[in-house]
Amino acid sequence: MQRLTKKWHRDGAHVGLVPTMGYLHEGHLSLVREARKRVGKKGKVTVSIYVNPTQFAPAEDFSKYPRDLKRDCAMLRKEGVDVVFAPTDGEMYPAGSTGGEATLFSTYVVEEKLSKAMEGVSRPAHFRGVTTVVAKLFNLVLPDVAVFGQKDFQQATIIRRMVRDLNFPVRVIVAPTVREADGLAMSSRNKYLEGDLRRQATVLRRAMDAAHAALKRSKKISAARLKADTRKLIESEPDARLDYVEFFEPETLAPVADVSTGVRMALAVVVGKTRLIDNETL
Ligand code: AMP
Repeated sequence: MQRLTKKWHRDGAHVGLVPTMGYLHEGHLSLVREARKRVGKKGKVTVSIYVNPTQFAPAEDFSKYPRDLKRDCAMLRKEGVDVVFAPTDGEMYPAGSTGGEATLFSTYVVEEKLSKAMEGVSRPAHFRGVTTVVAKLFNLVLPDVAVFGQKDFQQATIIRRMVRDLNFPVRVIVAPTVREADGLAMSSRNKYLEGDLRRQATVLRRAMDAAHAALKRSKKISAARLKADTRKLIESEPDARLDYVEFFEPETLAPVADVSTGVRMALAVVVGKTRLIDNETL
């Protein structure tokens, strides 16, 4: 991958990278189109497909995470992607780790502030896995531009911070969330939502709509009050459980006591056995 990308650079092409875990949907494809826009017709777009074991906790869905490389490649060919980079676990973590600690791999990239809130509370080792694998992908693909989705807002913020802190020569672009017609944010994990769970999953969208509406009625509302209202709405669905809802400053992720326009809302909800996340600026 490095040999190829160095040649692209020598030939004067800009290189764009879209990191994914595969099982692609329109959300991923929107990032691919953004990458193409950034590097131009003569540029090169690489999509990485890698379900990274180090960002999953042992009890999480690493082994059953949906995978379909053939279908993904067909979709990306249609989009005019130049290369799909789909390494094996053994290539990324020598000694072939799958979830546990690989014996021949012992260096991690750890962001120490932004990773502690929200997703980091529920998934303590998650962002260490994410920053480590994204740093590896940046070193492997050597992109000029990398595109991430707002769907994972905290992740994108942490990666921006990592790039700044560690001087990666990469421009990070964060693209809007693509949704289904009923407002559910597209996600590979939506595949798990069977029967009525798929309908119940729209409660994340409804919770954000309710917060927008509340802010329209009064310009400033206490976060505590909005959190309580959100919990009530989420738990009105029989199979939904609120993991967290947070209201925070978008740059620093610092929680606010009073919610007003421009504050960002993020929430995680378990629907059946599937953990879904979403976020939006209010
Ligand atoms: P994943 O394959 O879920 O790890 O996601 C790969 C990239 O796609 C990440 O940067 C995500 O934020 C982004 N992404 C996932 N879902 C969406 C969506 N519905 N809209 C836009 N970007 C998304």
